[in-house]
Amino acid sequence: MKQSVTGVILCVVTIVAFLYFVNSSSREATMLFVNGTVYTLDRNNTVGQALAIHGSRIVAVGTSDDLKNRFISDTVIDLQGQTVMPGLIDGHAHMYGLGQLLQSVILVGVKTPEEVVQRVKERVDQTPLGQWIYGRGWDQNLWPSKEFPVAAMLDAVSPNHPVVLIRVDGHAIWVNSKAMKIARVTKETKDPAGGRILRSSDGEPAGVFIDDARDLVENSVPPPSAEEIELCILRAAAECTKVGITEVHDMGIDSVRIAIYKKLVDEGRLPIRIYAAIGAPSTTWDEWSTQKPLIGYGNGMFTLRAMKMYVDGALGSRGAALVESYSDDPGNRGLTMNETTLEPNIRKAIEHGYQPCVHAIGDRGNHIVLNAYEKILMSVPKGNYRPRIEHAQVLLLEDIPRFSQLGVLPSMQPIHATSDMYWAEARLGPKRIKGAYAWHSLLQNGSIIVGGTDFPNDGMNPLWNFYSAITRSDRTGYPQDGWYREEKMSRDEAARCFTQWAAYGAFEEGQKGTLEPGKLADLTILSKDIMTIPSADILSTDVVTTIVGGKVVYQKAGAAPAQ
Ligand SMILES: [Zn+2]
Repeated sequence: MKQSVTGVILCVVTIVAFLYFVNSSSREATMLFVNGTVYTLDRNNTVGQALAIHGSRIVAVGTSDDLKNRFISDTVIDLQGQTVMPGLIDGHAHMYGLGQLLQSVILVGVKTPEEVVQRVKERVDQTPLGQWIYGRGWDQNLWPSKEFPVAAMLDAVSPNHPVVLIRVDGHAIWVNSKAMKIARVTKETKDPAGGRILRSSDGEPAGVFIDDARDLVENSVPPPSAEEIELCILRAAAECTKVGITEVHDMGIDSVRIAIYKKLVDEGRLPIRIYAAIGAPSTTWDEWSTQKPLIGYGNGMFTLRAMKMYVDGALGSRGAALVESYSDDPGNRGLTMNETTLEPNIRKAIEHGYQPCVHAIGDRGNHIVLNAYEKILMSVPKGNYRPRIEHAQVLLLEDIPRFSQLGVLPSMQPIHATSDMYWAEARLGPKRIKGAYAWHSLLQNGSIIVGGTDFPNDGMNPLWNFYSAITRSDRTGYPQDGWYREEKMSRDEAARCFTQWAAYGAFEEGQKGTLEPGKLADLTILSKDIMTIPSADILSTDVVTTIVGGKVVYQKAGAAPAQ
């Protein structure tokens, strides 16, 4: 009897001690999310139900019961089945360009030149004389004629306001006569190296300027003030939070924008993180390339550690450099640029701790850059340089394995495939198309892909890119099984493009890109489970909440999760 009493007492003491221990060991969390689907994208592809954040970091992922036991928090959020992904990283985009787009006449997806002219007219009517009219996003490939437009069409509605309309790919501009007059462009103006002026049969500039010829007009556009640039960046950043983007790799920035980013970070006004690449060749690059890169400025909000340059143009305007002629334009092999400055700038970047990011679209452009990387990497000490090729869009089949062999990261934008598929084969023919937008082939060969949207050139929604990556269909579902479907990505690969692999593409995989204890609390919460729902439903998935460093930077109106 005595023994059993002692036994009961012992037992009770043990239970009390255990409960005391459990209770005292439950830790504090600033936010506790429960009852959701949490894709960690960790090594084991763990899927949890709950996630705890303390301060700016993730402290645990697990089941709802487990985390409710282990953590106490003033903010417990019932996800009610919503999906948590690592914060989406846009691996290639243009913040100022997006801000500018939001302030200008939007021409994306317009189906006729007449509609473009109509939209310009509306803007002219509300713009004081003397001010320039900007537009962005036109694409003659969507028009019935598919022909480049002319200045006279704009002159009809805007004889006195100078007009500059940037093509969807950013590689051509359509302007009116007033703009050409201010820029002093005439019949006598010669095509610059790396650019082309489209002309009428009598040799007069017709109104479209391709690649480096754009400078002839754009140099006359009054430069934006620092205040205007700041406004554009803030507008763009706010827009990013709405589509779940927590970090942007901003490609090609200058000293004015560097100063603005630092200021916004100092003032706590930048809601998303920026990994920036300095545009080269430029005075900004000359200045910075001899200084140390700026890594993790302002609690990891701003990093300046990359250099961006161009080696060719784009496919839509036939500026991408091809080994053989364009299939639909015999004799034209596209344009190359910066040929003499390419190698010295890559070398300078690598030697000073900057990541080289070179834009290459055509197979010749990509071949030139791969050769340059190969040569330079052989002559510097072995290291983890992670050089990138931006777009890597059309590749010689024999160049595909070279990416992983050399450690060169392809930085690609899935939506480019589904925007270009209507005409890309006409440009390239049936053989070269096999090496175009070749995601699966690159992955098969051991590469990872840094995913980006390239906003503002082609929309800015990473979920549309995710959809493009896994379907290779447009948003109407065409073609049904996908265009060159063997190059599709799996959902896991597409998700990693915009999270873990994009983080790797910025040397940041130790800090973000997966949801693991110790990593930054950058999260994107979605209304639906994009990893399992029918692909068409991805397009109607909402971003519910965007969190950067444990701070809610976007909350969809009316969708505040239950607490
Ligand atoms: Zn770009």
